[in-house]
Amino acid sequence: MISTNYNILVKIYLERIYAMEKRHTLTLNNGMKMPKMGMGTWYLGENKQTEETEIRALRVGIDAGIQLIDTAEMYGNGRSEKLIGKAIEGYDREKLFLVSKVLPNNAGRMHIFKSIQQTLSNLKTDYLDMYLLHWRGSIPLEETISCMEQLVKEGKIRSWGVSNFDTDDMEELFQIPAGRHCAVNQVLYHLGSRGVEYDLLPWLKEHNVPLMAYCPLAQAGDLRKGLLENKVVKQVAKNHEVTEIQILLAFVLHQGNVIAIPRSGKAEHVLQNQKACEIILTDEEYAALDAAYPAPTHKTYLDIV
Ligand code: NDP
Repeated sequence: MISTNYNILVKIYLERIYAMEKRHTLTLNNGMKMPKMGMGTWYLGENKQTEETEIRALRVGIDAGIQLIDTAEMYGNGRSEKLIGKAIEGYDREKLFLVSKVLPNNAGRMHIFKSIQQTLSNLKTDYLDMYLLHWRGSIPLEETISCMEQLVKEGKIRSWGVSNFDTDDMEELFQIPAGRHCAVNQVLYHLGSRGVEYDLLPWLKEHNVPLMAYCPLAQAGDLRKGLLENKVVKQVAKNHEVTEIQILLAFVLHQGNVIAIPRSGKAEHVLQNQKACEIILTDEEYAALDAAYPAPTHKTYLDIV
């Protein structure tokens, strides 16, 4: 009897852990787990005067359990990566999930090996969890893929993916055999810009490639006038006693196959963003947001910044 009760308790405990993990992580096509919420870092590290505050914001985020940090060699010409390098000093590297991006012109045999070395040195680490092609350029995809695969073999990166790829780009990528190893596609996605829902997001779901949503806060509402003042967004925020920004995050995370990387240089905002993972929109709330900002019913060009 005691043993039966014990087994039931263990089962309930394990089910809870599994459900929690499912809410907060995704499994990539190579079996790696990837957190669903991270910290973006565009524009961070560019101003000496705010450096300390930004490092603190990243550290507060890591302490609160955010493991994923997104950056790029382009951001501040390496200064964002360097800032992260300072912020993660002293943390257990294995507990972090670091993503950086290579510029299209550097994504071939001539430059990529130098680029990754610079990125690793900026971040003061010896591997990346994920390396993305920032956007498509003139270097053939076959060449970039072959370099990415080599970097995986050398242990410099644990996975690779793409960014700003539309559905036709993804289809082309998947025509190349190793193209199927692409782990994510990072694209612009927020409540006020839902074009990806028409065909790209379903395509990615079908092929088990998570969508990494950039600008999930519409750059604090700047990318869509009136978004934060919209009465539906305000009402849903009121229902949950949270901010409108947190509702924007909850909206993108509501989709199963989505990872969000909001950026903030302020600790209090980072904590608010992390708490947004706990918001569960009701069907009625989702329907109201959907009606206020409907997804297009036809193909639209991929939105970019
Ligand atoms: P976001 O949509 O994340 O918005 C950032 C803005 O929101 C900042 O002004 C920030 O200000 C503000 N903010 C953040 N949290 C809060 C909060 N809780 N309350 C109020 N304001 C808040 O824009 P980004 O363009 O930065 O996109 C996110 C990340 O995506 C980038 O940092 C980058 O890593 C990645 N990205 C990738 C691209 C690509 O081509 N692959 C293109 C663009 C972005 P504050 O600092 O004051 O909090």
